[in-house]
Amino acid sequence: MSRKSMREEDILKLYNKGLSDEEISKSLGISIWTVRYWRRKYGYKPNPHHKKCPICERYFRDFGKKKYCSECREELRKIRGLRFQIIKKIRYHLYYLLDNSPEVFWRVIKEMEEEEGPEFVKLITKGMNLKSLSKTN
Ligand SMILES: [Zn+2]
Repeated sequence: MSRKSMREEDILKLYNKGLSDEEISKSLGISIWTVRYWRRKYGYKPNPHHKKCPICERYFRDFGKKKYCSECREELRKIRGLRFQIIKKIRYHLYYLLDNSPEVFWRVIKEMEEEEGPEFVKLITKGMNLKSLSKTN
């Protein structure tokens, strides 16, 4: 058996296991161009990369730059949506306070700042027009 056909066999074996071009090239210590050459010779499509999800630590395969597995991405989407809803709700209550009892509003803001930090207050009040109001406070 010639050297070339052994390499070809190794590449195809790993390809059939589901490894991506990059993974095959790394595991055999050959260039990615060699892997691509042989894969294309057989008309095979590239396998997606094998990645470890940093949240659930499960392995998943993906062609793109996705960092998390599909299940965790779905969870993150839900959490982001929920976070946005919570912030909206808090702002709604703050506006109510601002309109009906500004002194309580500013006390709440001050307490929030002390307990959660100025970054939190900045996030919660982002988009609220407070600059002109704070002068009158
Ligand atoms: Zn995950």
